[in-house]
Amino acid sequence: MIRLVIIAALIYIIFRLLTRSVSSNRGHVEPPPPEDLLVEDPVCHTYVPQKDSESLRLNGTTYYFCSKECLQKFKTNQGA
Ligand SMILES: [Zn+2]
Repeated sequence: MIRLVIIAALIYIIFRLLTRSVSSNRGHVEPPPPEDLLVEDPVCHTYVPQKDSESLRLNGTTYYFCSKECLQKFKTNQGA
């Protein structure tokens, strides 16, 4: 009778371990990291990943550019 309880407990523990490992492998969808965000270049209007872009902070707003050339054009247009 005691052996039966031990077996039942073992089955329960194994079952719990199996379901936990399955749930951690599946169904866990991570949101995309913020650096994969696409940002619009205000000069040539191309979308570039934020992590690969050139950024410029101006009057409390951050602008993102596909290249240093666009950043430079933007600065020229701003009269800065
Ligand atoms: Zn550009």
